[in-house]
Amino acid sequence: DTLNKLLDLKENIRIFCRMRPFLPNDRWPLLGPILIPETATIHTLKCGQKRNFQLDKVFLPDSSQDEVFSEIGPLVRSAIEGQNVCIFAYGQTGSGKTFTMEGTKDHPGIVPRALQQVFLEASLDSVAVFSITFSMLEIYRGQLRDLLVKSSGKMPQSGVNCTLSIQMGASGSVEVENLTQVRIESPTEALHLYEKGASLRSTAWTNSNETSSRSHCLLRIMIEKNHGQRGLKTMNKLWLIDLGGSERLLKTKAQGQTLEEGKAINMSLSALGDVISALHRKKHHVPYRFSLSLSLSLSLSLSLSLSLSLSLSLSLLYIHICMYMS
Ligand code: ADP
Ligand code: MG
Repeated sequence: DTLNKLLDLKENIRIFCRMRPFLPNDRWPLLGPILIPETATIHTLKCGQKRNFQLDKVFLPDSSQDEVFSEIGPLVRSAIEGQNVCIFAYGQTGSGKTFTMEGTKDHPGIVPRALQQVFLEASLDSVAVFSITFSMLEIYRGQLRDLLVKSSGKMPQSGVNCTLSIQMGASGSVEVENLTQVRIESPTEALHLYEKGASLRSTAWTNSNETSSRSHCLLRIMIEKNHGQRGLKTMNKLWLIDLGGSERLLKTKAQGQTLEEGKAINMSLSALGDVISALHRKKHHVPYRFSLSLSLSLSLSLSLSLSLSLSLSLSLLYIHICMYMS
């Protein structure tokens, strides 16, 4: 359903599908031969009717981080030029969202590259003066937490000083109250903050291997641009978001805490669908409040520059769609 709503909005967003390569633990032979699509078309079902959509691009399993970023770079540039941009990865756990967004030391992903590009583009502008700040937060079990503030509790979720709330601004924008913003002068500084923030994620406290799959992680780069003409100032946001896993609870046989985490993620991902749907129909009331995560990511980029990195492996893509159909 969420996927269908995203595809509905396609005029306003860009959707890329990335297939990750096979990993040793994948049990693909059971699923039969893998089809590599010749065109970037995706088939889904909505109310029993088949729909075809043209994706902006499909990245095949051998595609590099460089190739992926070549599509994302222009979006980052538009954030410097004065648009709000939101880039997020959506898909099942293990489909390659974190690899795509964060990457590894040897294969840096969208986050480090985007940070580098922000500073590069800013330095190329000989007229405007930029002030750039970095914020990092997570949404875990429906709660919004500042990742740049250390919790006072033993577990991050028990701390009170890092829990945030959201407020609707006068212009209809959605703001995170009291979110820590740190002024950054270089991509290195930002990456240092990113590492610190990652170590404070709720899931970093558990022994799970899938540390990032049960919470959403959001980076906000706020770009203040002083145009130097009659004091004109603009403020834009670039959001880089690694969403929690989109798998179904029944299939994962989740219990206890994992089940609660999964429920929270599913609620927010389905709210993502509702928000997108409302934006698409240009409804006056956009149900941001149903979910913290979405309010953040979508309020900012209502129409122009919402972009989506849809990160699924080829097989996962099919399985995923089948799951949506069933
Ligand atoms: P997710 O964040 O969606 O749960 P990950 O990004 O953690 O998934 O990816 C799962 C595994 O697959 C990781 O070991 C990751 O290194 C590997 N992986 C994902 N995408 C790629 C890729 N394009 N190339 C090589 N390895 C990848
Ligand atoms: Mg992940």
